[in-house]
Amino acid sequence: MGPPGAGKGTQASRLAGRMGVPAVSTGDIFRANVASGTDLGRAAQGYMDAGEYVPDELTNAMVRDRLAQPDAADGFLLDGYPRTTAQVGELDDMLAAAGHALDVVVELVVDVEELVARLSQRSSEQGRSDDSEQVVRRRMQVYAEQTAPLVEVYSARGLLRRVDGMGEVDEVTDRLLAAVGTLHA
Ligand code: ADP
Repeated sequence: MGPPGAGKGTQASRLAGRMGVPAVSTGDIFRANVASGTDLGRAAQGYMDAGEYVPDELTNAMVRDRLAQPDAADGFLLDGYPRTTAQVGELDDMLAAAGHALDVVVELVVDVEELVARLSQRSSEQGRSDDSEQVVRRRMQVYAEQTAPLVEVYSARGLLRRVDGMGEVDEVTDRLLAAVGTLHA
């Protein structure tokens, strides 16, 4: 977990590679569907471009499909899901039905000035359609309203580890590996 610009995507693929599990990034899957013009992509694009969350029913169905793939049978790393209370409940159901459970939830913590700097850098480098200043502001607000409260939910379950996301990418990866250390032996 972490706000836009915290480095979730970058770190998720590194961490998943080191742990030998697939990274399941809902933002990446939505962007791939937009790029290839699928029905899901068409349904999601307007929400994404406005900085809003894609409706829970679409997102939940997509994650359910993805986690049913054989490569996720022995574990996976979720990036960008769950982001709403309803998604937490749906994930709980999916995992319970499969006889699985979450091992750990990581929150990447980054200063707000650093988030803004990273996103404006990414906007000029990658031209992601939701990285304009106005849309970034909305994404931050949606995160604060809908997703930040989930940190407390997972904290109350004893699953949360807070990791400092400031500094070099490699340093952050090392901190994350230390935080999940007992899982990837
Ligand atoms: P970031 O975390 O930097 O905002 P992501 O790539 O994770 O970027 O997500 C981009 C967009 O994809 C979100 O703003 C939202 O529209 C959509 N999205 C991703 N994950 C979810 C989710 N779990 N629920 C609803 N919408 C999502």
